[in-house]
Amino acid sequence: MKSTTRRSFLSGLAALSLPPLFGEEARRPRSAVIVVDIQGDFTEARKGSLAVAGTDEAYLRSVAEATAKFKAAGHLIFATQDWHPADHVSFVTNHKGRKPFEVIKINGRDQVLWPAHCIQNTKGAEILLDAGLFTKVVQKGKDRRFDSYSGFKDDGGARTEKESLLREADVREVIVYGVATDFCVRATALDAATAGFKVTMVRELSRGVAPDSVEKALADLRTAGVSVVDSLPLLA
Ligand SMILES: [Zn+2]
Repeated sequence: MKSTTRRSFLSGLAALSLPPLFGEEARRPRSAVIVVDIQGDFTEARKGSLAVAGTDEAYLRSVAEATAKFKAAGHLIFATQDWHPADHVSFVTNHKGRKPFEVIKINGRDQVLWPAHCIQNTKGAEILLDAGLFTKVVQKGKDRRFDSYSGFKDDGGARTEKESLLREADVREVIVYGVATDFCVRATALDAATAGFKVTMVRELSRGVAPDSVEKALADLRTAGVSVVDSLPLLA
């Protein structure tokens, strides 16, 4: 009696649930794009306080067009957004007597002292892409005590919702690009790789602060198993 009930339950389950489940599986996106920090303060196009070389209008157009293509091809699109309180630890203006780009030790960690940038609810913090592109914008660097180059976690180890968002969507592969190659793109791609995602970093859609640190960052990415590519066939 018991086994008959079980069989009929299973066959019912197979008849009722498997086809829709299979359909859902087939439709479910397995890859996502993370567009890193395309914000006013990081771009020359907006005369940002921490503008990265080569972030002119043409660059912004190429990022917008590429991101729209990825979305049309079925990728989930996430953005990271640097989102600091005005008293953030990374701002040189919050360290008396220090100069911009000086590196100091804070609790044993290296901290670069940046010009104030991406202050919450200011023009400079705005993302310069159509908000309709994004499944979700993940903000980082909100805790005044810790910098956060990575979209996954800050220097204090506090995690953003990024990884759980990717897992919930059953994402296996991520494509990463944006600014700056040698800081936030590097850190985000490395953490994605550490979390077990298959990661591709796209050079033509990324810009870096300095040539030396860009080369070092690309080497670090390759060592971590990230595929560093100039472009992708979809963008041709
Ligand atoms: Zn920042």
